[in-house]
Amino acid sequence: PAAEFDLKAHIRGIPDFPKPGILFYDISTLLRNGPAWKAAMSRMAGKIRPYRPTMLAGIESRGFLLAAPLALELGLGFVMLRKPRKLPGETIGYDYELEYGTDRLEMQADAVTAADRVVVLDDLLATGGTMAASIQLLRKAGATVPAAGAMVELTFLNGRQRLDVPVETLVAYD
Ligand code: 5GP
Repeated sequence: PAAEFDLKAHIRGIPDFPKPGILFYDISTLLRNGPAWKAAMSRMAGKIRPYRPTMLAGIESRGFLLAAPLALELGLGFVMLRKPRKLPGETIGYDYELEYGTDRLEMQADAVTAADRVVVLDDLLATGGTMAASIQLLRKAGATVPAAGAMVELTFLNGRQRLDVPVETLVAYD
């Protein structure tokens, strides 16, 4: 059933997006298909459960599309890691380097406690820069991060080597 579902058949590669030379893996086609999305979420739930998370975090914005349904399925709370200045109230931020320039992720300062084990999720792991920053942000907020998860992994970019936690992914491209 879920384990046999061909998720790759529902993910398409779009050449030259967002700029020439980049092959963008589009998960919109998977989300549009009810059984495919459900199979992906069931498989991810099975991979995440053994880490005994107390909460799930999603990275804006496609990470929300994994983390929120998974949190519901596992009966856990959900926390948003967002682009700057989107969240009300006191926030904690983490700045990180991009290929050109820097970027920043923020979360609400009171979202997690030192007792929380937060698994962080995104749609896709490329260089791992976004995921590494998310893990640092959650730690800065006081949480423990037992694992990270992404639907898609671009193995040729070695993103998981930048991370000091196990990464669970569903499909890989090399
Ligand atoms: P990284 O920081 O690992 O280099 O890039 C991962 C981030 O960029 C993720 O937040 C992901 O949503 C986005 N991203 C980079 N490349 C792709 C891609 O081919 N497809 C999708 N869906 N997202 C991508």
